[in-house]
Amino acid sequence: MRRIFTSCSLLTVLSLAVLLALGATQPAQQSKAKAAKGGAAMTFGNSDSISQEELKVYEYFLASDQLEGRNLPSRGYDVAALYVASHLAEWGLKPGGSRSDTNGPLQPYFMPIELISRQVVPEESKASMIAPATRGGFGGGGGGGGAAATGELRTVEFEYGKDWSAGGGGFRGPTVDSFDGTGTLIFAGNGYVINKTNANPYDGLDVRGKFIVVAGVPPELAALQAGGPRGGGGGGAQNPLGQACTDYFTPEQYAAKNGALAVIRVATFQQLSAMVNPNPALRVPPPNGPNFQVVKFQQQSDCPSAPSFTAGLALTNTLFQGERTNAAQVFYAAGSNAKQNSLDLNAAKKLTLHLAVRSEAGHGENVLGILEGSDPVLKNEYVVMSAHLDHIGLSNPQPDGDIINNGADDDGSGSCALLAIARAYAEGAAKGLRPKRSIIFLWNAGEEKGLWGSRYFNQFPFIDLRKVVADLNMDMIGRAKSPGFTDSNTTHVLVKPGEVLLVGPNVSSDELNKTIEDVNAKYQKMVLNHFYDTTAPDATHDNLGPQPNGQRIFYRSDHYNFARMGIPVAFFTTGLHPDYHRPSDSPDKIDYQEMQQISKTVAAVGWVLANQAGRPKLNEKLPDQLVRDMKTAQDQGWGKLTPVLPPIPGMPF
Ligand SMILES: [Zn+2]
Repeated sequence: MRRIFTSCSLLTVLSLAVLLALGATQPAQQSKAKAAKGGAAMTFGNSDSISQEELKVYEYFLASDQLEGRNLPSRGYDVAALYVASHLAEWGLKPGGSRSDTNGPLQPYFMPIELISRQVVPEESKASMIAPATRGGFGGGGGGGGAAATGELRTVEFEYGKDWSAGGGGFRGPTVDSFDGTGTLIFAGNGYVINKTNANPYDGLDVRGKFIVVAGVPPELAALQAGGPRGGGGGGAQNPLGQACTDYFTPEQYAAKNGALAVIRVATFQQLSAMVNPNPALRVPPPNGPNFQVVKFQQQSDCPSAPSFTAGLALTNTLFQGERTNAAQVFYAAGSNAKQNSLDLNAAKKLTLHLAVRSEAGHGENVLGILEGSDPVLKNEYVVMSAHLDHIGLSNPQPDGDIINNGADDDGSGSCALLAIARAYAEGAAKGLRPKRSIIFLWNAGEEKGLWGSRYFNQFPFIDLRKVVADLNMDMIGRAKSPGFTDSNTTHVLVKPGEVLLVGPNVSSDELNKTIEDVNAKYQKMVLNHFYDTTAPDATHDNLGPQPNGQRIFYRSDHYNFARMGIPVAFFTTGLHPDYHRPSDSPDKIDYQEMQQISKTVAAVGWVLANQAGRPKLNEKLPDQLVRDMKTAQDQGWGKLTPVLPPIPGMPF
C-alpha cells in the first residue's frame, strides 16, 4: 500500500480523502482512475481489503505438516474444519450447518456427512465348492477339455486372497458388503448386455439364485481400460457403451436386476499374478487408513450392482472342470477379447461363499458460513462461493522422506482465498457494505474422493437450489510460472503471473462470463484464459468433448455438481504443475500476489452478482456430457430440500 500512496498525485490523495469521508472503501489506484474519468466510485464491496499477509497466515496453517494433508476423514481434516469454523464464528457469519443437537459454537457451521468403511476380514472369509471329482485341468496337469468326471462329489476349499477375493474389475469399484450364499453356476462370456450391438449372453439362461461366472470385458471397454484409470472423479472419459442400466448392463447390474446371487469374474493375467505373488507392500496398512464411502450416496443408487468376486487359478479350474470349455480356454479367450458362448455349468456343482466384512463408521463435514443479504426480497437468493478443504493426506515415503501432501495449492489456496473473501464480506457488512443477495461460503469435504462435498450439498440441499444465482469455485489458484519454470508434462497448463484460467462460464452462462469480464476490466485486469472452456484447442487437449484426451478440467472440481443442477458456474484456477498431488505442494511455493489478485476478482464478481438486478441465464446449448449428467442427477432426485443432519458421533466440537 505504501508504494501506491507515494506514487499518488496530490489530487488523487484529496479525492481519496473525500471518498473515505463519504464512507466508501476506495483503493488509491481505483480512485485515480475514477478521478480521471470523473465517474461514480466502483468499490466492489470490501474486496480491496484482501491482503497477501492474511492469505499467507491462513495458508501456513492449513498447509502445515501438523494437518497431515487433510485427508477425509482424518484428524487433520477435522482440525482444518475447526479452524475455518472458528474464523466464521469470530467474524459473525451465520452458521449454515447443523441446527439441532450441536455442541458449542463451532458445530453449527458443519454440514455432517456420514461415512462408512467396509473391510474384508480375510481369515474369516471362506469359500468352498462341491464338484464332481475329475482329473486334469488348467494348471493342474492334463489341461485338455477331456478331463473325465468320476461321478463322485468332492468338496474343495479355497483360500481368501490366493484363490478368490471380493471385488470385480470393470467400471464399478469393489463391492465390499458382507456376503453369504450358496448356488449353482452359469457361465455368460463377458456378461455384458449391450443394446447397440444386441449382445445378450443370457439368452435362454435363467440366472435367478445362481452365481454368474464371467471372463473378460467387451472390446470397447478393453481399449478404454488399457488407458488406465483416470483421477478426478467428476466425470471420466465417456463410456463407449452409453449409459449404464439404460444402454448396457454390466454383469453385476444384470445380476442385481435379475435376482442372481453374485458375479464371479475370472481373474485377468495381472490379477492372477498378484494373487499368486502378493505384493508385500499391500500387506502394510495404507497410509491414510481404510477407504470410506458416503452412506447416503449408496442408498441412492437406481442402478444397483450385485456383489462381485474374483476367481483365482484353483477356483477357476474347479469351476470349469469337466465342462465343454476348460479354464485355460476361457482365460485366454478373455485375454484376447474373443466372444465366448454362454453355458450352464454342471448342476452338481455348488459354490458357497462367506465374505466376512468389518464396518467402521466415520464422518466428514462441509463447512458453511452465510452472510444474509440486505434486500428483503433478493436476500432469499444466494451466490455460492466454494473451495475444497480436503486434500489427499499421507503418501508412502518419498526419496527425501517426506510423506505429507501439504496441499498448499490444492486446495489450500482456494480455501484460504475463501476465508479472506468471507472475512472481507463480514467486515464490510459490519461497516454497512452488505450485498442485496445472500452469500454462502462453502468449504467442501472430500473433493479428492470424487467431489463428495459439493455433490452432498446439491443432492441434499438445505436451500432451494433454484435460488442459487451462481457458484464461483476456486481450486488451485496459488501458482504461476516463475522465471525458469519447467514442466515435463506436456498436458499441464499453468498460467503466467497476472493470468487466470476461467473455466465454465463460457460453457454454462455467457451472461455470467460477461459479468466476470466486465468486473475484471474495471478491477484487477487479469488475463482471463478460456483454454479449458473450448472443445479441442490442440492435439493433446480435448477439454469438453467425448474423447478421453486432455485434462477435461471443466468436469473435475466442485463447481461441476452445481452445473449439474443447472446453476451457472465459474471455476477459477491457475492450472497444473509438477507439485500437483505431491508432498512438494508446500506453502513456500505459493505466489501470494497471484492468489490475492484472484481472491479480489472472485470477491468482486460475487459482489456484483449479489447486487445486480437480474441473474445470469443458463446457456441453451450445453455440452453433451453435462446434459447427460444433469439428467442423471434429476433421475436420482438431487435437489430435494433436506434438513442438515445433526452432528454425527465423533465429529469435532
Ligand atoms: Zn483440488
